[in-house]
Amino acid sequence: MWKNIVAAPADSILGLTEAFRNDPNPQKVNLGVGVYKDDAGKTPILACVKAAEKLLLERETTKSYLPISGDPVYAACVQKLLFGEDGEVVANRRAATVHAPGGTGALRVGADLLKKFMPKATVWLSSPTWANHKGVFATAGFPLSEYAYYDPATKDVDFAGLTRDLQAIPAGDIVLFHTCCHNPSGVDLDQGQWREIVEIARERGWLPFLDFAYQGFGIGVEEDRYAVEQFAASGLDFLVASSFSKNFGLYNERTGALTVVSPTAAESTVAMSHLKTVVRVIYSNPPAHGGLVTATILSDPDLHRQWLGELAAMRERIVAMRSALVDGLNARGVAGDFSYIKRQRGMFSFSGLSDATVAWLRQHRNIYVVGGGRINLAGLTSKNIDYVCDAIAEALR
Ligand code: PMP
Repeated sequence: MWKNIVAAPADSILGLTEAFRNDPNPQKVNLGVGVYKDDAGKTPILACVKAAEKLLLERETTKSYLPISGDPVYAACVQKLLFGEDGEVVANRRAATVHAPGGTGALRVGADLLKKFMPKATVWLSSPTWANHKGVFATAGFPLSEYAYYDPATKDVDFAGLTRDLQAIPAGDIVLFHTCCHNPSGVDLDQGQWREIVEIARERGWLPFLDFAYQGFGIGVEEDRYAVEQFAASGLDFLVASSFSKNFGLYNERTGALTVVSPTAAESTVAMSHLKTVVRVIYSNPPAHGGLVTATILSDPDLHRQWLGELAAMRERIVAMRSALVDGLNARGVAGDFSYIKRQRGMFSFSGLSDATVAWLRQHRNIYVVGGGRINLAGLTSKNIDYVCDAIAEALR
């Protein structure tokens, strides 16, 4: 069957990891893939996760299937993270949450759900966006379009272009947003800008879909949910895809959730019924372990506090590496203003490095950066920061 079929291209980011792994040079540095690393260059298991797993090992009594929508305790925890401890949406039962395999699974469940009821919609993605957004929504059968987002000249959001584009999107289309820590640019919307976007959504009638893969990696767990809060307060329909890969370090446990928010509890019940039919035919019911770990942590005040501390440590290490990179380049007299790297949020930065520089760094210094110049700041450590700054300074000389 496969003899006359051309092989598919490797995933560009995961392909870079493969090349990095095969590179024997001990000085090699991976600034590519989107995984958090500590100062020793390891992707750690959080101590709160280890503690929760210990409890689960003692308490777990069955490996029988979860419900189609997943563990209800987990869904309640996800809703508290999204809407706050006393969220009106939760009190009024306006949210339907299903446990999904990772943020990617949540996006795909959302896409399949929407395709059933909005078959003619176009999905609008930020320019640029995470490459897999295109794959997920195109595979679900949607035509794609882009709205203006990042301006390479100002290294900031092109807010005039963004509002112009959002105002021209027709009712019945779907608009995907990065709730915080925009991937790949690192450039986020501020609170006033989110309020304007909610107003445009209300006026124009398109459906907002929030991708929330980095809650707590921007400013903090509470601050980062500002956009969710504003859309919740608007009373509009919207969706949120949560991922706990990064903020709980549960990458391989595939832990995420899709939450559909509706104006009323009655509508939310209908949404949940259709969510279950979507999940049933893709994976029947979700993998349990990651969700149980997350729910155990979030339901226990001590573990919850420990998680917030460990999450803050990850966030603050990335912020420190942003400063170290900018200060290191300035100290080496590299021409240009790199202060924008300090203003960006989350794990990623559009570094401003050209594709030629990216190629030079890989060929001559074994430093791996994704094409387009996206850097994962978490790949920097106190041990390799000088090596990387020296290399970039030389490349740009
Ligand atoms: N959305 C964005 C913007 C992401 O960066 C990622 C992870 N790279 C995801 C969704 C998917 O997360 P997960 O690994 O949980 O599927």
